[in-house]
Amino acid sequence: MRWSRYYLFTTREVPRDAEVVSHQLMVRSGMVKKLAAGIYSYLPFGWRSLAKLMEIVRREMAAAGAVELSMPAVQPAELWHESGRWQDYGRELLRLSDRHDRDFVFGPTHEEVITDIVRHDVSSYRQLPISLYQIQVKFRDEIRPRFGLMRGREFLMKDAYSFHTDDASLAVTYEEIRQAYCRIFEACGLDYTMVEADSGAIGGSHSHEFMVVAETGESAVVRCPECDYAANVEKAETRALPAPPAGPESGLRKVPTPGATSVEEVAALLEVATSQVVKTLVYMGPDGPVATLVRGDREVNEVKLAASLGAPGIRLAEPAEVEEATGAPLGFAGPVGLPDGLRVVADESVRPLAGFVVGANEADAHYVGVDLERDVRVDDWADLLLVGGGDACPRCDGKLEEFRGIEVGHIFMLGDKYSKSMGCTYLDDQGESHAMQMGCYGLGIGRTVAAAIEQGHDDGGIVWPLPLAPFEVLLLSLQTRNEEVVAASNQLYDELTRAGVEVLYDDRDERPGVKFNDADLIGVPLRIVVGARSLKEGQIELSLRRTKEKEMVAVDGAVESIRERLEAERARVTGSGG
Ligand code: ATP
Ligand code: MG
Repeated sequence: MRWSRYYLFTTREVPRDAEVVSHQLMVRSGMVKKLAAGIYSYLPFGWRSLAKLMEIVRREMAAAGAVELSMPAVQPAELWHESGRWQDYGRELLRLSDRHDRDFVFGPTHEEVITDIVRHDVSSYRQLPISLYQIQVKFRDEIRPRFGLMRGREFLMKDAYSFHTDDASLAVTYEEIRQAYCRIFEACGLDYTMVEADSGAIGGSHSHEFMVVAETGESAVVRCPECDYAANVEKAETRALPAPPAGPESGLRKVPTPGATSVEEVAALLEVATSQVVKTLVYMGPDGPVATLVRGDREVNEVKLAASLGAPGIRLAEPAEVEEATGAPLGFAGPVGLPDGLRVVADESVRPLAGFVVGANEADAHYVGVDLERDVRVDDWADLLLVGGGDACPRCDGKLEEFRGIEVGHIFMLGDKYSKSMGCTYLDDQGESHAMQMGCYGLGIGRTVAAAIEQGHDDGGIVWPLPLAPFEVLLLSLQTRNEEVVAASNQLYDELTRAGVEVLYDDRDERPGVKFNDADLIGVPLRIVVGARSLKEGQIELSLRRTKEKEMVAVDGAVESIRERLEAERARVTGSGG
């Protein structure tokens, strides 16, 4: 491709909304262009990288036995009523209506559509298992679209769905696709980890996320350095916390705590540890307020709480709602003497406490010497603890480490959540009807490319891993008005193109400084410089964007040298061979 005829315009300007480096570099290198919040055009240079990823994804999905199809983006609301997600999905779901006032959604995901297809086509155990996938545009009306392609509203996803007679068959396919995901992210040259994850609004029992390690990642992840335990903090567990000593008093007594609304203030005032205070947080759940108890030095994991309430959306109650539910102003709610109708759920961290401190459900007062059995009604016990770095590994004696990651893929065992509600059944060999077991498997195309840039860049610009680079080689002609240079560059360009090398030929009539800066910015892995001086000696310069090490090679036979360098780079990235 000759740059002079290509559609690639770089810019030095960093858009004001571009907070992370991948977003800045994608805009500056002319990969994407914003149309509206979270909605982007993929310009030719960016699209090439996405296309490369899609090729890798298709190859590995096929290797895992999945079959490609393509489903509509616009889906009738009836299907979403059937699955129950018309209610449950919330405001991320973009709802539309047609000229006949019929309701539709722009698909944020495709469980309903695929289940509808399969329930009509498949009726016998003999036709199972099957795995189907597509690469297709989704729309989610994200509350905070940001970071460019990382969290867009319209975005490309590879989504796969599998259908089975039973759990065992689902487990086999789940494992095959899990391995395919590992091969995909390895083939891209990404540093990633697979972690246990919460199943969220999609539902189901068992799920894993694939995290690309990056400081700017939106997800927090814990990993045990001793064993293979790794989990999203939304899901992470720890061993039971060691119990703090019992508080100094054992009889229930109300004490004044004027103005002490935080656990720290209360603990300091009453001269107890923060672990001897129990925090009461009121959340608004699906059936009204819920009082949630957790040890004072720890935080509630809202994802675990939502899961334990079986509710997709919960939120902290407003001060007025807290007061209405408990009678206490904010900071003084507590579990002693709460109204009977108010549901109380407690984290396991509270169970071993004795003689602890809680809010007294009135302004400026707390109870000390609280006893669980005697003074507190708990309706449900659950693991609601937010686990983080430094906590004990739930599997071994190790201590968890915390880091940040970009969630690029998410695989779920759905079980019969959709097949049951939507009547997707099969007949077994006895002629009996059963709901199918399902799995679903998502992978963000744009987000993965953004994550690759988040991991591969320096001050000058992008440093592409070869497999995702829009071009393999940048051929940079230094003097576009020097006949020898032009002739040699043209010839090299033709030879490389004929040899099947993906080359971007910078034949623009620009100053060398501009070309070198652009070369760094767009980050093509192998750079070839053809300049008048070295050409006189029959030489051209090769350098890797990654190392910036330069070497001179003979212009005769240069194609061979270039192919060797590319092979070596490819092998390095994917860890295969030399
Ligand atoms: P998140 O927690 O980041 O919102 P999710 O759990 O909603 O992700 P899934 O429903 O599992 O995501 O979607 C599968 C994959 O699609 C994700 O792993 C991610 O790579 C991609 N993806 C999800 N939402 C977006 C988005 N708003 N922009 C770009 N990619 C996305
Ligand atoms: Mg989401």
